[in-house]
Amino acid sequence: MRPAILTLNAGSSTVKYALFGDDGVTELSRGTLEETGEAAMAKALEVTRTAEVEVVGVGHRVVHGGVTYSAPARIDDAVLATLESFVPLAPLHQPHNVQGIKAARAAFPNVPQVACFDTAFHRTRSFVEEAYALPRRFFDEGIRRFGFHGLSYQFIAKQLAVVAPDVAKGKVVVAHLGSGASMCALNGGRSVASTMGFSTIDGLPMGTRTGAIDPGVLLHLLDQKHMPLKELETLLYKESGLKGLSGLSNDMRTLLADESSAAKEAVEYFVHRCAREVASLATAAGGLDALVFTAGIGERSSAIRGRIVRKLAWLGLAIDDAANGRNSTLISTRVSRAKVLCIPTNEERCIAEAVSERLKPG
Ligand code: AMP
Repeated sequence: MRPAILTLNAGSSTVKYALFGDDGVTELSRGTLEETGEAAMAKALEVTRTAEVEVVGVGHRVVHGGVTYSAPARIDDAVLATLESFVPLAPLHQPHNVQGIKAARAAFPNVPQVACFDTAFHRTRSFVEEAYALPRRFFDEGIRRFGFHGLSYQFIAKQLAVVAPDVAKGKVVVAHLGSGASMCALNGGRSVASTMGFSTIDGLPMGTRTGAIDPGVLLHLLDQKHMPLKELETLLYKESGLKGLSGLSNDMRTLLADESSAAKEAVEYFVHRCAREVASLATAAGGLDALVFTAGIGERSSAIRGRIVRKLAWLGLAIDDAANGRNSTLISTRVSRAKVLCIPTNEERCIAEAVSERLKPG
């Protein structure tokens, strides 16, 4: 039987799994189950049993590694206990991740398991990027801007070295625009700033999340409107963003095809905030050699990419409409001051490669 690495991404509404060769690069299969919980995990693990492979390593996507982890970690009882202690930091995601790890350890008790964190890639950032302007003790307690989508950014940083080596060592803003959306400033392939903060709510508006919002609004809703805490949580994570603004859908395709003014305003809000954040992150990086689009919207919507880049014309960015329409890798014109690129992300492969690294002897 072929040796294989299994990757598991147990999210808040889906379980995604993939099988790779033990090189961590050759993808054998992948799938998504639109359900969560033990039954979904059992189904995902069952697929691997029927795939005529011998699982030699399992990699888990884990949303939060706190301040503890700046690299993937081999999972043992102590590491698992630490990951469980981070549940209060990511109450909607971390419990699913932990459950996935427990299920996979039970199914493959003798196989090495590795936790790969969405936060780890950002641990290279400076104090001013990590801290909130709260009294210092909050920083020490771990109330920090952690940043997320790190597996995606790490993959893109690596891909850049292959597809655009001239800018890979430079200053790059990566726009991960999916149902969750964030941006990251890279300098020399390392994260120097990102739009998401303590939680996955901050920064850009998303399918159903608000993005940046004045905390005064939350105080008002809690104090003056007596909104229950759980209701506020649901509002911020599930009822806002594109869905809340449009009153129609969280799906960018639906909104782009809709003629209503609310749908158009929701799309314009998204484009506007994306363009603003590119300029902000370029300042954090100290320049801009390239802008990279990735994830569902970033990889597939030429309309959204075009609109964001046109708002950045003052920075000297210029889009090549034909190349953009084809979802080509390079989508800027020759005169553009910075390159604009479209690069598909692959978080699963980032995880599989990390597992493969750790399976190597020595
Ligand atoms: P992801 O979370 O990376 O899978 O991205 C999902 C999002 O990508 C969905 O909200 C879709 O609206 C969006 N998307 C996928 N394909 C397209 C497309 N061709 N045009 C615009 N948006 C798209």
